[in-house]
Amino acid sequence: PRPANVVSAEKKEDSTKKQQPLETINLDQGDPTMFVEYWKKAGEKSSIVIPGWQNLSYFPNINGGNICWFLEKEFSDEIKKLHELVGNAITKDRYIVVGTGSTQLYQASLFALASTDDTGNDSSSRPMDVVSAVPYYSSYPAVTDFLKSGLYKWSGDACKFDDKNEPYIEVVCSPNNPDGHTMTPVVNGNRGKLIHDLAYYWPQYTPIPKPADHDIMLFTVSKSTGHAGTRLGWAIVKDEKIARKMTKFIELSTIGVSKDSQYRAATIMRAVTESAQSISLQLAGNFFDFGRKTMVDRWERLRKVASENGAFSLPKYSKRYCNYFGEIREAHPGFAWLKCNLENVEDCESLLEGKLKILVRGGKNFGMDYKKYVRVSLIDQEDKFQMLLDRLSSVSSSSTKIK
Ligand code: PMP
Repeated sequence: PRPANVVSAEKKEDSTKKQQPLETINLDQGDPTMFVEYWKKAGEKSSIVIPGWQNLSYFPNINGGNICWFLEKEFSDEIKKLHELVGNAITKDRYIVVGTGSTQLYQASLFALASTDDTGNDSSSRPMDVVSAVPYYSSYPAVTDFLKSGLYKWSGDACKFDDKNEPYIEVVCSPNNPDGHTMTPVVNGNRGKLIHDLAYYWPQYTPIPKPADHDIMLFTVSKSTGHAGTRLGWAIVKDEKIARKMTKFIELSTIGVSKDSQYRAATIMRAVTESAQSISLQLAGNFFDFGRKTMVDRWERLRKVASENGAFSLPKYSKRYCNYFGEIREAHPGFAWLKCNLENVEDCESLLEGKLKILVRGGKNFGMDYKKYVRVSLIDQEDKFQMLLDRLSSVSSSSTKIK
């Protein structure tokens, strides 16, 4: 990762001009520090103390018969309660597998799917193609290929995939990182296996029309509650064999997942559920209300800047009924998928990074052929978000000059 937070940019200008150097702001990663403000107010109910004598064993304190042997029952109970409350995923009669972030669960899913043939038995044929529709989450290609597995390989854009009537894996990220759109599978093959990455399927980012019910669904505390540093994700899995293989993958790579983190995440998730039921956290209020208000406010301010200067445009999202908030709403994604409209600017990333000193992620990382698009994080702290707005509004639509 790039250095976090605000760092002082090197002064490249003529030093005699005595210009204040523009600070570089990093909005490349989706670092969810926006939620710090909420959790500071939440206090006791979201805190946990773990005495030195606790959680020494490799084995869970209480597992409750889960197939995933290192899953703490308290954590899986809170996962189910939260999904039940939000209505964003079916958990009844499903297996839950915990991972060190959903990044580990993505790898565990690839392993489980690619090592199992259509009949559910072990397969040992050629590496299985892994595809996702462009623009896809930038980590998928690197994470898929970095171990050069003999079981699977990254094969790029799902829209261009040539289905050879062989098993393949399609990753469906919905709402999509980077562009925030709701996604469904695009390959129309009958031997496809699906991984649904639902990291952002939470009411602060998108309307929740119904509970998702797919074969493998990946979630993470990084984007749901904002606790990326806790490094915890969970998979909701329909098939027992796949859940067992995913568990095996994690057992062999890390002999389980931090118990401390599972207890912390359980505490945080309980606090979220109770805040939404008005049981506690009165000071901080309903977590999803906080998330929604912040995202709506940021999108309104961003859209205003974009429409005023005309240099950038943003995606439009159709309105849908959100069961959680009980109203028709549009999406307010955690990233802005910004398109540069300036005719004389081919590379939007260079404009933002070079002239405006805003670190962003360029479109080619997401499989795009041309460079007009960049992804900008909107879930960072307020001061950085305001700097983003100030700098975007300093670009005039008629030229690349800063006003
Ligand atoms: N999937 C998507 C779509 C993401 O945006 C991210 C985080 N940027 C992840 C997975 C990884 O999440 P985690 O921190 O749980 O590994």
